[in-house]
Amino acid sequence: KGKREGMGFGIYKQKEAFNVAQRLALASDLQQALRSNELELFHQPQIDINKKIVDGSEVLLRWQHHDYGFIAPDVFIKLAEDTGIINELTLWVVDRACRDLEKIISLGYNDYNVSVNISGKDISEPHFLTHVKKVIGQYDIPLSSLTFELTESVMVNDFHHLSQIMNELSSMGIHVAIDDYGTGYSSLLYISQLPFNELKIDKSFVMNLDTSERDLTIVRTTIEMAKNLGLKVVAEGIESKVIEEILKRHGCQIMQGYYYQKPVGFREHLAWLARYQVD
Ligand code: C2E
Ligand code: CA
Ligand code: CA
Ligand code: CA
Repeated sequence: KGKREGMGFGIYKQKEAFNVAQRLALASDLQQALRSNELELFHQPQIDINKKIVDGSEVLLRWQHHDYGFIAPDVFIKLAEDTGIINELTLWVVDRACRDLEKIISLGYNDYNVSVNISGKDISEPHFLTHVKKVIGQYDIPLSSLTFELTESVMVNDFHHLSQIMNELSSMGIHVAIDDYGTGYSSLLYISQLPFNELKIDKSFVMNLDTSERDLTIVRTTIEMAKNLGLKVVAEGIESKVIEEILKRHGCQIMQGYYYQKPVGFREHLAWLARYQVD
């Protein structure tokens, strides 16, 4: 089963396939890609399993390189972070995400939420929020329909600064999710001191829920604690009905995974949305 969506575009380059010189060249290509049309924002739906509706989608960046073909975001996001391009890249993503969201709302999906991945490097950038406000201000969207997903790695940032940024996002109405929960070192107790709205359980804990007693314990207790802290719980990486049922039984409400839909381009996503409503 081809799990590397987008493989059809061309060669799939692994991280180790690039040497130092190639990485430098790639970084410059990435800068160019922001101006050409090699970047595309994909959407992957998040399903509210209780309400049986589409809660929204996570936007995931895709890069179709002119020579190498499709390059995985794990590779080029890291590159962008290492070379300082990430801030511009994130603003590009936020801009497209808002544009797509505005379109979706205009089609009548009023409560639709779009989740955007934000890098720890963005949070450290002193003018990040000023730039974000400028971008978002161009669109007619409720800010509460935007969620910023931050990985636990932002916790290594200056706590005071992080909490300032988060409080400001909160007061703007933007929701904040803790992404990849469980893969870093932060505790829920620590997280509970910051105004998070949502917790995303990483797919590495979700994928073997049916066979791993250990993963089940981690997921079960995470859901329970998150709910006690008033956080919305989202699970990613659901690939089967069995996994969905286990998560549902333990109180997880929002699901994301190939079982429902893989990430696809915006047009395809809109077509999928229209079909889903009928189901
Ligand atoms: P993530 O934020 O944890 O995103 C979820 C990843 O899980 C996505 O990989 C998605 O395609 C994949 N996924 C979703 N459902 C399933 C499933 O059922 N099975 C499996 N095997 N995988 C599933 P993707 O798109 O390759 O992105 C990888 C990572 O790259 C993301 O992980 C995120 O950390 C980063 N990334 C992607 N787009 C952006 C972006 O616009 N900005 C930033 N800063 N990072 C991004
Ligand atoms: Ca969301
Ligand atoms: Ca994410
Ligand atoms: Ca993840």
